[in-house]
Amino acid sequence: MKVPFLDLQAQYLEIKPEVDSRLNEFLKAGSYIGGEYLKNFEENFSSFLGANYCIGVANGLDALEISLKALGIGKGDEVIVPSHTFIATWLAVSNCGANPIPVEPKQSSFSIDPSKIESAITKNTKAIIPVHLYGEPAELDSILKIAKTNNLFVVEDAAQAHGASYKSKRIGSHGHLVAWSFYPGKNLGAFGDGGAVTTNNLELAKKIREIGNYGSQKKYINDVIGRNSRLDPMQALMLDIKLKKLDEWNDRRREIAKKYLTELSDVGITLPDGLNLNDGVWHLFPVLANNRDVLKKYLDKNSIETLIHYPIPPHKQLAYASEFSSFNLEISEKLSTQLLSLPIGPQLEINQVDFVIKILKKYFN
Ligand SMILES: *Cc1c(COP(=O)(O)O)cnc(C)c1O
Repeated sequence: MKVPFLDLQAQYLEIKPEVDSRLNEFLKAGSYIGGEYLKNFEENFSSFLGANYCIGVANGLDALEISLKALGIGKGDEVIVPSHTFIATWLAVSNCGANPIPVEPKQSSFSIDPSKIESAITKNTKAIIPVHLYGEPAELDSILKIAKTNNLFVVEDAAQAHGASYKSKRIGSHGHLVAWSFYPGKNLGAFGDGGAVTTNNLELAKKIREIGNYGSQKKYINDVIGRNSRLDPMQALMLDIKLKKLDEWNDRRREIAKKYLTELSDVGITLPDGLNLNDGVWHLFPVLANNRDVLKKYLDKNSIETLIHYPIPPHKQLAYASEFSSFNLEISEKLSTQLLSLPIGPQLEINQVDFVIKILKKYFN
C-alpha cells in the first residue's frame, strides 16, 4: 500500500464538481483581478474566524512582511521569533530591515516558550511573532500579556492554523495582526499561492491594503512606497469552496491524530501528546525519534511518505549562520535531528493510517 504524505489530488476530486463549474464561471466572467470573488472570500474568511477585516495578499511571507511594515517596523528594530519555525517567519523580519531575535520552544508543544521571551526583549524590540506551529495555537495569553507590559505588537504567524481555536475563540484576531498562507499544502490551501492578513483594527487593515496595492488607497494616488501583493480572485473563489469544508477536514485530521496517539503509545517514538486534540488543527503530526533518518528510510521503503519539519533550523542556514554563530539554540537543533512528520490529511484513508501504525510497530519489534 502507498501512503502519500498529503494527497492534494484526492482533495480536488472530493470537491471536483463545484470546483470545475465555478472555475468555468470565473473564466467566463472576464474580470481577473480584484472584484466580487475576492471580496466574498475576504468577507467569508473573516466572519468564519470572527475577525473584523481580512485583506488578501499574494502569499504567507508577504502577509507577514506587509504586517510588519504596516506596524512601522524597519531598520534597527528587533522582532522576537521562534527559533523553531519555517524560515519565512524570520525572512519577513529581515526583509523589513529589522533583526529576528530567536527564542527557544517548549519541547512538549514545539511552540515558543513564553518564559524565555522577556529576557530577549531590549529597548529595540518592537514585536513578537508567535507561530501556531503544526496547527497548535501558541500560548497567546502569556504572550499577549508580555507584549502589553512591554508595549510590543503581536503578529501571529497562522500559516499552519486555519480553523484552530485558542480558549474557544478562533485564531484570527487575538494579536494586532494575523498572517495567513494559502499555499496548497496548508489546511486551507489554494490551487497555487495565496495569503491574507486578518485583524480587528481598521487603521491597520487600511494600511495593509494600501501597502499591498502600490502604496495607494485611491487609484493613481500613492502615499507610501508600497508593492503589488494581491490574492488572485480565482484562488479566492477556490478558497471559498474549500472554506466550507474546513471544519470537517480539520475534524478528520483530529481523528487521525487521535488514532496515532492511541495506537502508537507503546512504540519507541515520542508522540506529540503535548498538543491539544480539540483546539489544534493538526497541520502536521510530528513525532520524535532517535535515529530518525534510519526510521525515515524504513518507512520510505514501505511506501510511506514522511517529511522533516524542519531539517535545518533558520539560525543554521547559510543565510543566517554567520550572524547567529554565537547563538546556542539547543532545543531547536535537537528537534531538527529528531522530528519526523507522519502522513496526515483529510483525504488519508483509515486503512492507510492502520498501515502506517502496523509498519511502525513492526519496525520497533
Ligand atoms: C507556509 C508558511 C509560511 C509561508 O507561506 P507562503 O505562502 O509559502 O509564503 C510562513 N510561516 C509558516 C509557519 C509556514 O508554514
